[in-house]
Amino acid sequence: MGLFDKFEKIAASKRDLESQCPAFFNVVIQDIISSTEALIGGRKVILAGTNNYLGMPLRRECIQAACKALQEEGTGTTGSRMANGTYASHVDLERDISDFLGKSNTIVFTTGYSANLAMLSTMVGPRDFVLLDADCHASIYDGCRLGGVQVFRFKHNDLDDLEKRLKRLSNQDADVLIVVEGLYSMMGDRASLPGIAALKEEYGAYLLVDEAHSLGVLGETGRGLAQEAGVEDAVDFVVGTFSKSLGSVGGFCSSNHSELEIIRYTSRPYVFTASSSPANIAAAKAALSIIRKEPGLREKLWDNANFLYSRLKAMGFHVGPEASPIIPVRCARIQEAFAMWNALLERGVYVNMVLPPATPDGTALLRCSLSAAHTHSQVESIADAFEAQRPSA
Ligand code: PMP
Repeated sequence: MGLFDKFEKIAASKRDLESQCPAFFNVVIQDIISSTEALIGGRKVILAGTNNYLGMPLRRECIQAACKALQEEGTGTTGSRMANGTYASHVDLERDISDFLGKSNTIVFTTGYSANLAMLSTMVGPRDFVLLDADCHASIYDGCRLGGVQVFRFKHNDLDDLEKRLKRLSNQDADVLIVVEGLYSMMGDRASLPGIAALKEEYGAYLLVDEAHSLGVLGETGRGLAQEAGVEDAVDFVVGTFSKSLGSVGGFCSSNHSELEIIRYTSRPYVFTASSSPANIAAAKAALSIIRKEPGLREKLWDNANFLYSRLKAMGFHVGPEASPIIPVRCARIQEAFAMWNALLERGVYVNMVLPPATPDGTALLRCSLSAAHTHSQVESIADAFEAQRPSA
């Protein structure tokens, strides 16, 4: 009996899948050519499977800000936010995010993963309850596990199921935190936030919205789904990441509860990890300022998203429930997903492939994601590559 014996089943299934589609297990971005193109397996491909919604990683302003921070403050902070890892730039970015979101307090974490881990393991404890949407991200589940809170999942976006659970908990002497996402990362659909916010008010619960995929993407000024839905005041905690529309690495939580500050002293994922590097912080700050100045980026992103969604839908693919910069194409069988993923790559289009159990409904997904940096002709090429694979082709 060895330590790795328990992995034998999964290792065997990986070997089997790898023999069907070796390229999938060996995706290396050999060279970044532009915001939307890279060299993979020696082939130039259009990147249609990133979270680079606004093209920030290669924006001149972000690169210049990161280079300046790198030169002036070095490659890393070598310390936790609690010790020597809080630089003026971390505090400054916290102020910028608060100002952008119209919240009184913000904490910057090292990643979005650690922001969720910190909030959910610390804000609520074994005597409280978390009601989370079944499609929530792994970092939300992991945070709940770390803090030992009692968790109930409600069916994805199902307000009746949520209300049933809120009702059941209403006679308990405990706090209830509802957790949802702005845009769901696999199916690309929005949370039914107006209804969720109304239930939260009715039952006196708290509400945390992870706007990882919706910050900079939804809302009149890019503040996310809560802004688009007109329910920002009902959201107690906004969690976000720098790793998508901001093109950097880091995460945050913002709130109008000034008590949020106590998390800095009580949360293991804040205290026991090094802070984001000065370059990451500077890049995120520059990207946030671009989001504020250039609403046209959001328009371009949505033009691209709407165009690809309607083309794929018209071709007969099983796409997600609504048009969005995340467009999943469902495949009934894994073999079908492998074949299509490979064929797309051979035609010069890279998309993500997501296999069960990581998918919400047990099907394999080809997950496309769009960027404001895609040209219209690139989006047409993505659609054309799918067309060659369409169900009736
Ligand atoms: N929340 C959601 C909904 C996500 O999709 C992700 C990343 N995929 C995260 C949090 C974690 O963000 P990060 O990459 O900054 O750790």
